[in-house]
Amino acid sequence: MRYEDVPKLSAWKTEAYAIHKTPAIPLVAKIDDLLQKIEQSFAPMTKRNLLADLDRACKEWKPPHPRSPAMDALAEVVKRRLAYDMGGRKYNSVVCIAYSVETGAFDGMGRVAYQGRFDDAQDMRARVARMRAAIACARALLPATTMQDSSVLKLFMAPEFFFRGRYGAYTPDIAAEIMPLLRSGDGGTNGAVFKDWMFVLGTAIVASLDAATACFACKSISNIAFKKDPLQPGKTKPECTVSPAHPVGEYIFGATIDNVAFIQKGGETYLVAKEYISGIDFRDVGSGGFVWMKDQGGHQAFGVLPTQGAQGSAIASKFTDERMGGGVFNFDGITLGMEICLDHDTDKMLHAENLQIQLIPSAGMTINTHRTITDGIAFNVDGVRGDSSVEINDSVKTRGTVSHSLAVPGHPGKVEIYNPILIPYV
Ligand SMILES: [Zn+2]
Repeated sequence: MRYEDVPKLSAWKTEAYAIHKTPAIPLVAKIDDLLQKIEQSFAPMTKRNLLADLDRACKEWKPPHPRSPAMDALAEVVKRRLAYDMGGRKYNSVVCIAYSVETGAFDGMGRVAYQGRFDDAQDMRARVARMRAAIACARALLPATTMQDSSVLKLFMAPEFFFRGRYGAYTPDIAAEIMPLLRSGDGGTNGAVFKDWMFVLGTAIVASLDAATACFACKSISNIAFKKDPLQPGKTKPECTVSPAHPVGEYIFGATIDNVAFIQKGGETYLVAKEYISGIDFRDVGSGGFVWMKDQGGHQAFGVLPTQGAQGSAIASKFTDERMGGGVFNFDGITLGMEICLDHDTDKMLHAENLQIQLIPSAGMTINTHRTITDGIAFNVDGVRGDSSVEINDSVKTRGTVSHSLAVPGHPGKVEIYNPILIPYV
């Protein structure tokens, strides 16, 4: 038998009835679960993550498990789909390339110190120029044999907070320009010369204003009820439940902060958002977390709301499974997991399986818990230390060694190139 495409769970259960026993074989239950999630997933990266896990599950099906024509057919279609979706296995080894630069300096009061430009758009462009200079430096520093060896993945990473304006965060329109500016033109990351490079282009802090109907007298959004509007039949109007006399209206009560990592491999880009918002992500005015944002010419401090779906948010994440749109992603048959700074401390990849590379762009973090498969690679670039580290997940956690290091000409920071490390495959 042969599947044209990955089967739906119901079809699979019918055709693989012989191995659907009671009590269930754990591996079959796992495969069923993956097939169901693939059926429910929409995002291409999610499907790809799940397919990679399904491929590994199919490979585990060997004696003492009985032979099954349905299982053989499933393994075959998954392999075919993976080759189609990811270009199969392309890389034998990885060279980690760090752009080690300070992004998280603190002032005398323990607040993040900003050295950026006053104009956010100008600031963003200046940082794009820095990143491009670091990429050019890495390319020049990389030995020609490594550069030309298409079985070696070149993995370039910049630290957390690389893109962050003087006032703590960029508005979404400014953040949206970062990737196009990095990718375009001569020396841009879209260039054919970078076909075997994967870029983790630091993280950007992005703030979006949140407005809600509030009572200005109670200074609350919870006392609002919508009543029929006597002046406009069929419409409602907001009213304070404590007193209808209270003034109510739209109130900007905060900004949603996203700390987003930009990932690019060839023509594809992927974004990973930090889940745990820590106090140092924004300029702290007084005690709580605040962010300075441009508001009609001035700068105003708004309270910080947790990102939707993030830990601590009122809106619970739809998925707790990181493969379903989160820190896990697949390029060219390699499964990577990203933990942005505090996400590493809170063990975001605890339940991730089959990671080959663990990425930790940070500002004040070191590698602690390895979550890759055996001999997987953990790569950390830290903006507080202005430094990087690489560790292999073997019994002694062998540290990667830097083969080449160079200060970026005319810009802060240095580029560090590590010796190649074999990528483990299941
Ligand atoms: Zn009120």
